Amino acid sequence: GAETLTPNEAVREEYEVLVEEVRKHRFAYYQEDAPIISDAEFDELYRRLETIEAMHPELVANDSPTQEVGGEVSAAFAAVEHLQRMYSLEDVFSLEELEAWIAKAEANIAKLGNGTPAWLTELKIDGLAVNLLYRDGTLIRAATRGDGTTGEDITHNVLTIKEIPQQLSGAGFPAEMEVRGEVFIPSQAFAEFNEALIEAGKAPLANPRNAAAGSLRQKDPAETAKRPLRMYVHGIGAREGLGTVSQSDTYRQLAEWGLPTSPYFEVLPGLRDVLEFITRYGDKRHSLSHEIDGIVVKVDDFATQRALGYTTRVPRWAVAYKYPPEEVHTKLLDIAVNV
Ligand code: NAD
Repeated sequence: GAETLTPNEAVREEYEVLVEEVRKHRFAYYQEDAPIISDAEFDELYRRLETIEAMHPELVANDSPTQEVGGEVSAAFAAVEHLQRMYSLEDVFSLEELEAWIAKAEANIAKLGNGTPAWLTELKIDGLAVNLLYRDGTLIRAATRGDGTTGEDITHNVLTIKEIPQQLSGAGFPAEMEVRGEVFIPSQAFAEFNEALIEAGKAPLANPRNAAAGSLRQKDPAETAKRPLRMYVHGIGAREGLGTVSQSDTYRQLAEWGLPTSPYFEVLPGLRDVLEFITRYGDKRHSLSHEIDGIVVKVDDFATQRALGYTTRVPRWAVAYKYPPEEVHTKLLDIAVNV
């Protein structure tokens, strides 16, 4: 007969299998831009890993996937150190969890003496994070997030995206600034691009997120230039001489300099309005110009962001609410029906 495992051995075994699974799927997703399972399935594996670690802290290794920003640097690109680390986001999967997260954050903020926060609420774009380094208003370098510390140099590819200014317009530019945003392919453009591939007898791309990631990580910028890539700014890294005091203030300033900011963000006073925002965009998420996989809620004020700080993987001042998964995307279905 089979050996029987003690409960502890069984947990350790499940844990080790999960760690390997999560590593394997991260590699397929980040390194190869070709996921094997759906995001919802991946999120479930990841959640289970977090649950086991919460119950058995002694199992948590320093290199556990929960301690790292997922993403690897391919040898095909030059490695770039970000001036300031790039982070992932803490996820919540229900409105109850979001409510608990906000209540806890508001209590912490009050305890720190930072008053009542305003919540910058925006769409979570399903694309690829990039870091743009500007010096005195000129784009010097662009990189993928990678593992958060080191990304891949994709400057030549990013230069093919017309929406990203090589030179900012206006005046008063900081000496140095890292602008973070999401590169994505709009839904309509994605459908058209795929139809063209099918007509040419080529395999269509699986989804806009992986298509965007694959497009940005082409070896030949001329190939990237053919892809309908867009970008929205959603953050700021290292900066020197940028006078803004909040996230929303920064978006306004960056837009004034010609950087593409999202038209969909709102600064809201508390949970009730955040929940209303989530419902509103949940209803119309498929009529937006791009895919979203959730809503991001951030403390707007920079001083409060700084006071809260970061874990090894995520900011303590932001959270991502993920909409419940859907079985099939209608756009893909349309194509499948047309074939
Ligand atoms: P994440 O996508 O949950 O959150 C962090 C990222 O959100 C940021 O890096 C940024 O790129 C992006 N983002 C989009 N809009 C934003 C906004 N308005 N403000 C701030 N950030 C915004 O975390 P992650 O670590 O990048 O990856 C996890 C995601 O990748 C999950 O959705 C997971 O399901 C998926 N994934 C899937 C597989 C798979 O096998 N299918 C494997 C690994 C990861």
